[in-house]
Amino acid sequence: MSNLKHIETDLIHAGIDGDSFTGSVNVPIYQTSTYQQDGIGKTRNGWEYSRTGNPTRFALEKLIADLEHGSDGFAFASGMAAVTAVLQLFNSGDKILITNNVYGGTYRVLDRIFSRFNLSFESVDTSNPDHVRQKITPDVKAIWIESPANPLLTITDLKLISSIAYENQLLTIVDNTFMTPYLQNPLDLGADIVVHSATKYLGGHSDLIAGLVVTKDSALGKELAFIQNATGGVLQPFDSFLLIRGIKTLALRMDRHVENAVKIARHLDNHPAIKKIYYPGLPYLPGYEINRRQAKNGGAMISFELKKEYNVEQFFKSLQIIRLAESLGGVESLVCHPATMTHASIPEDLRNQLGIIQNLIRLSPGIENIKDLIADLNQAITRSKV
Ligand SMILES: *Cc1c(COP(=O)(O)O)cnc(C)c1O
Repeated sequence: MSNLKHIETDLIHAGIDGDSFTGSVNVPIYQTSTYQQDGIGKTRNGWEYSRTGNPTRFALEKLIADLEHGSDGFAFASGMAAVTAVLQLFNSGDKILITNNVYGGTYRVLDRIFSRFNLSFESVDTSNPDHVRQKITPDVKAIWIESPANPLLTITDLKLISSIAYENQLLTIVDNTFMTPYLQNPLDLGADIVVHSATKYLGGHSDLIAGLVVTKDSALGKELAFIQNATGGVLQPFDSFLLIRGIKTLALRMDRHVENAVKIARHLDNHPAIKKIYYPGLPYLPGYEINRRQAKNGGAMISFELKKEYNVEQFFKSLQIIRLAESLGGVESLVCHPATMTHASIPEDLRNQLGIIQNLIRLSPGIENIKDLIADLNQAITRSKV
């Protein structure tokens, strides 16, 4: 079943809904590496080896393809395995333009691994279409976008950049981790490939590592299927099951995450200890207008800068409910220190130039009671004054 009426319904029933063999309402965990064949070349329904295909993983892959309105879905052992598989579409000598504050791991795999195979990249300000146009040379084959981008929540006009890419015969790849298909569908805006770290909102409970890819058409889908099977970074059946389970409640969770984020953003924006706040979900903050046209709302990630008189280390230590940790998108609120955590692999001068400075904090509000979260932030800010 695909693309039923509304996404809240699709989240629960799209892809492969249950199990036709037994009537089980959930997709079973097919914990198997291989499948008996009835004769040479005679598989039962095409299943032959679980790196190539596994029914639990396949159900997840159909589900994410439906949710992102694409042709084919692929599940990987991590977001980085998904990113890596997509980068393997390219050849030595090709170049990729990337949003200038992409996820640190994406930067690192390009900078330290793919560069050794002569796949080059350049950071560009994808929020500025003229800047993108200037950077397109004959070797450029793709534009890799995050919107909102990590951690300053910079918004890129996905429709505009996709159309520039299309005119120049480049692929548009969007890392949609921060928004999820519940809030934003990049393929509908002209992108060719969507990538997710499903470790974050899609899984939603900070209990698994997973990555997903969706292609717009089956030609790209065939290439990705080949790469997935040839390189083998697949998601295991049990984790595929957990992820399907997580996705079922995505709408409920995202609604609460966003509601909490808006309230916290408003609160922090008026707080005397805060120098600057980044959140594309408030009308008077940058990125709001473009984001409103391409996404349901501003999402749930917030970054903010404490004034100089406040000590970030002390702030993190003082928090009682909100925890200092890598990652985001779980039901529990997490904060992180981008300069030394998520973006540590970006050179310091580039970090400072981008605004990823020492007093910058990234917050992923969970689904706890908002009064408790605001009280926790307030007391930690008070205690961090030097
Ligand atoms: C976490 C993250 C990744 C990497 O995903 P893993 O599941 O940690 O491998 C990629 N992109 C973004 C935007 C992320 O937040």
